[in-house]
Amino acid sequence: MDFLLNKWFLKKKQRKINDLPKYMPLQPYRSIHIDELAVPSSIVELFRTAAPTTKFTLFVPIDYLEENDYIQLEMIQHSFSLMVFIRRSNAYPPDVLEHIQQLFNLVMDSSNCIHIWGNMNNIISTLENLEFFFHDMFHPVHYINIQKQFKQWYNSTFIHGYYCEQNLKFNTIDGPLCSCSYRPLKTLNEEWTIDQAIAYTFTEYLNIDIADNISSNQICSAISTLSIVLDQQWTREQVQSYIQAHMNLRQVNIFYSLLIVYL
Ligand SMILES: [Zn+2]
Repeated sequence: MDFLLNKWFLKKKQRKINDLPKYMPLQPYRSIHIDELAVPSSIVELFRTAAPTTKFTLFVPIDYLEENDYIQLEMIQHSFSLMVFIRRSNAYPPDVLEHIQQLFNLVMDSSNCIHIWGNMNNIISTLENLEFFFHDMFHPVHYINIQKQFKQWYNSTFIHGYYCEQNLKFNTIDGPLCSCSYRPLKTLNEEWTIDQAIAYTFTEYLNIDIADNISSNQICSAISTLSIVLDQQWTREQVQSYIQAHMNLRQVNIFYSLLIVYL
């Protein structure tokens, strides 16, 4: 089994990550954009969705690109999500900024759970620089760093192969002796990037180049998808069925698009 798994991932590694089929969200979502021209009442509408929601995903790009820079905030509902793209800008009119602050106060309430990928302090300092949110130490933000949890889940789900020398250490941590092609991290302190996590788990390509904001707008959704996998502690078999289901779906989509061409 491990030999087959190694062969499968080795074959996959020989291809580039961006050759893989595109990432497909686990849950459908509707998008809303907020920029300097936003009407305050459109943000008030969002309060209605945010108020009963308890699970959110927040992604703040580390790189700053003036023309394509959006903070991604997902409000996770039972069967669908609302994805809010908020332009990173210091030029908001005071009334719009006030509504954005109210929105973040609702979202960052300590009764909610915020999924993030990486360091919360970096996210908070960016939000504070933009005056979107001010952290109050008496009201801590309840968050889960999916990046950290993912590493633990992946290592214990996709354990070292029988012939991997790291296997002799009788643990699942990353190490320099590891020869498993399905485990790209070879040192203990290395961290997964979100596109790597999607590629190695689901054999799908997630574009994280924020210069292309049309296709990099699914980073938040990808973090949410992994949060579900971790929440439900998916097994290797569940991951495999998910990959198979998406492969079938792609074939159905190709069939229908060909049908439209020939009709
Ligand atoms: Zn290994």
